[in-house]
Amino acid sequence: MKYFLLLFISYLYLNANAHVFVYHRFNEFKHPSTNISSIKLIEQFEFLKKHSYKVVSLSDLLEKLNQKETIPDNWVLLMIDDGYKSFYTHAFKIFKEYKYPFVLALYVKAIDDNYKDFLTWKQIKEISNYGDISLHSYSHKHLTHLGSNEIYEDTKKGLDLIFKKLNQKVNTYVYPFGEYNQKVFKEINKFKFDAIFNQSPGSVYTNSDVLNIRRIPISSKTSLREVFKYKTIDVKWMEPLIYPKDGILKTVYAKVNPKLKNLKLFITGYGWSNIVANNGIIELKINKYLKKNRIRLSLATNIYTRSSIMLIKNKGE
Ligand SMILES: [Zn+2]
Repeated sequence: MKYFLLLFISYLYLNANAHVFVYHRFNEFKHPSTNISSIKLIEQFEFLKKHSYKVVSLSDLLEKLNQKETIPDNWVLLMIDDGYKSFYTHAFKIFKEYKYPFVLALYVKAIDDNYKDFLTWKQIKEISNYGDISLHSYSHKHLTHLGSNEIYEDTKKGLDLIFKKLNQKVNTYVYPFGEYNQKVFKEINKFKFDAIFNQSPGSVYTNSDVLNIRRIPISSKTSLREVFKYKTIDVKWMEPLIYPKDGILKTVYAKVNPKLKNLKLFITGYGWSNIVANNGIIELKINKYLKKNRIRLSLATNIYTRSSIMLIKNKGE
């Protein structure tokens, strides 16, 4: 009995997770990794309906996060990145039929320069009556490769153009390619966004950082049944927080719930290894040379329950 109770408590601790989905293209079969067919989209929406998932608005989710309230397990936030025309032609009517709110994150330059497969400002104006608009940068560059000033100017340009064209103040940001480091965050955070989104799969729970919200990329191939198994462990990452200047990962230091003992640690280039937490403290001497410029560190209790951070080398370092 005691055992079950304990299991139940740790389950609760790991639980209460909402999920944020990100879509890109619709019925654009030339891009299978970022595309979803309208048939699949309807199937997914039927799945959500049948299993009583609640598609919430951005403000619903942010309110819960800011109040540090428990986030219901059945909550889902739907986002669409970039602003491809195919959202308007193939998916917008489906979102409206189901009355599902959404967040459309704009790659502003592509829209303002009339790139052929992107939405027009006029279409976005219409769309914005049904969903929120977010900034996905002006130029959609790899921000970690830019100087601080360039990151700032890119963001400002994007915000100014959206304001000029839609008369809307945008209060959320989506990192292009989901990439960021401390330098990027510092510049983006100067704009005091209410929320910033990355693209690390996982879930959103009471202690999630509103300035670093996890999202799950969805395509035709995604099984929602699988996606909803993703939970996030409550990890406070202490070290490292940035890519080490000498390229050597010396220590990993993190705090987790003291109930968690046996975990796994993933390091890009080295794979998974078994580790043990002592009273919630993980302190490991690693001393490994990092082989890639983008390093993911993950702590996990099983394949679906994890927390990860990304370290990206600054260009020129
Ligand atoms: Zn993008």
